[in-house]
Amino acid sequence: MNNVVLIAGAGPVGLVLAAELRRFGVPVRVVEKEAKLAEHSRALFMWTRTLELLEPSGATAALVAEGEKLHVSNIFAGSKLIGSVDFAGIESQYPYALLLPQARTEQILTEHLAGLGVTVERGAELAGFTADANGVTATLHHPGGKSEAVRAFYLIGCDGGGSFVRKCLGLSSAASPHQSAWYLADVELRGGNFARTELNSFWHEDGFMAIFPVPGGRFRIIANAGRNAKDFTPGTPPLDKIQTILDQRGPGGVTAMNPVWTHAFQVEEYNVASYRAGRVFLAGDAAHVHNPVGAQGLNMGIHDSINLAWKLALAYRGVANRELLLDSYTIERQAVAERVVANLGRAAQAATVRNPTMQFARNLLGNIYFGLAPGRRQVAETISEVSFSYDHSPINGIEDHALPAPGPGQRVAVPAGQPPFGGGPVPRFALLADPGARVEHLRQEFAALLEPELRPTLSPRCIWLVRPDGYVAAMCLREDIGIIEDYLRGYVPTAEDLAAL
Ligand SMILES: Cc1cc2nc3c(=O)[nH]c(=O)nc-3n(C[C@H](O)[C@H](O)[C@H](O)COP(=O)(O)OP(=O)(O)OC[C@H]3O[C@@H](n4cnc5c(N)ncnc54)[C@H](O)[C@@H]3O)c2cc1C
Repeated sequence: MNNVVLIAGAGPVGLVLAAELRRFGVPVRVVEKEAKLAEHSRALFMWTRTLELLEPSGATAALVAEGEKLHVSNIFAGSKLIGSVDFAGIESQYPYALLLPQARTEQILTEHLAGLGVTVERGAELAGFTADANGVTATLHHPGGKSEAVRAFYLIGCDGGGSFVRKCLGLSSAASPHQSAWYLADVELRGGNFARTELNSFWHEDGFMAIFPVPGGRFRIIANAGRNAKDFTPGTPPLDKIQTILDQRGPGGVTAMNPVWTHAFQVEEYNVASYRAGRVFLAGDAAHVHNPVGAQGLNMGIHDSINLAWKLALAYRGVANRELLLDSYTIERQAVAERVVANLGRAAQAATVRNPTMQFARNLLGNIYFGLAPGRRQVAETISEVSFSYDHSPINGIEDHALPAPGPGQRVAVPAGQPPFGGGPVPRFALLADPGARVEHLRQEFAALLEPELRPTLSPRCIWLVRPDGYVAAMCLREDIGIIEDYLRGYVPTAEDLAAL
């Protein structure tokens, strides 16, 4: 049997998944049907949590070295400022959004993957597959018409919104997909005085609009067709169309000039009910597509890859409760995508209220909410994705609300000067505890699953066990260390588990 993991699609999600698996010693092949990298950049934003999650692989440093940092998000109704959120307060080594064109992100990730010894097979298309209990047999079409049959341990469809893998599996959205229409323009702006470190969102009864910097001195305007959707035509809209939207929804006195890209496109928002069918998985846009308002799609897809990679790497080497561990990927990530859909839906509703009394009430409530530090903090932590958690995961340890946070499924912020979670050549859990005889015994018994160094505890009363992707696996009082022992024992493969590989 060929023990390779086959990844279909070398967008950002497939590239990150391939690099993480390779780093953990899993052989991968990445096939990409397009011969060349994309020219235009859809995504620009990489949020705090994404930069944290890419740090152990070493990719973050290369991305940060090239991107521009965005520190503040403003919300306006016309020229009236409703509120501002400063990302500086986020407890992270990356308290900002990184602006980097997706095409450049993909180049950097492709080079990162090449550095790990994996070359993307460009021009190679996944053309069919059948899965059984032990693996997947896939058909690849190579340039020049050559076909190849590949036997793979697992197949991951990172093949974007039109996913071939998703269609073959017959997986559909949990709720009816929602269609929306959008305009985008990368332009120079005269007037408006927009700072190059700020995102500006405009609420308007006709629809939503955002303006933010794109590297190279320009700004991107992105707006939904909203109430004017009947006039919408996909393709390349004239600059006049963008100017009309800017005049209607913006602060006034702003002129768009010298566009390098104008684009009118439709988005079908969906979230597939399950991201797994046996040996086949979906990740990124193949599993969920969000409207571009929150700039979350690429980020969410990368989080899928990070979540799946350590689980697949353990499954590849042999682990107890393999099926539960792999099922936790779809349970955890599908729930987060559902929350993002709900958040973006609420934001869109608030942005486009029509009734003047309701608009007045919304603006007043917005002023009050953004005027309070907890409100601003909640918004910053949601947009930057650091508050996402896996609260109802089947692989969470016992929850005890009397104990200090973070609890099972919640993110653990890495203090300055400490290495990120999940570094190294195999996935390992981190133990946060004061030293002691029982802790030492635990470290020796589960040395294969634990980082070699103990990390400082977050409270001397308690012990935390943190997953390779930086979320709490289990935690307990020091005297209840048996809880952590039992949790780790749940990962140790038996001879039967190893034979089932
Ligand atoms: C205008 C716009 C702006 C956006 N801005 C943001 C933003 O600021 N932040 C953000 O997080 N997200 C943003 N997004 C969303 C983001 O672009 C996507 O979520 C992201 O590209 C998804 O990555 P992916 O790797 O899952 O899919 P894709 O990037 O679509 O990559 C899938 C790849 O699979 C390949 N493929 C398809 N079928 C096959 C096959 N059968 N065999 C082999 N290869 C195949 C395709 O050629 C493609 O290269 C934006 C989207 C749009 C439209």
